[in-house]
Amino acid sequence: MAANKINKEWHERNPMPEEPTLEQLITWHVLHARHCGCRKIPARLMEIIKQRNIKIFEEEP
Ligand SMILES: [Zn+2]
Repeated sequence: MAANKINKEWHERNPMPEEPTLEQLITWHVLHARHCGCRKIPARLMEIIKQRNIKIFEEEP
């Protein structure tokens, strides 16, 4: 998925919960990064993702 390109279909199927918990936020952003490049993961979430060793992509480029 090219950078900054919005994957409308994915967004329609995966709306952000209205008051997401931290877990929901992380899950949403990780999945979002895999399927759509319209925006980046916020730095504070990225830190948690790194701390937990969550792989955003199945394989590192
Ligand atoms: Zn997006």
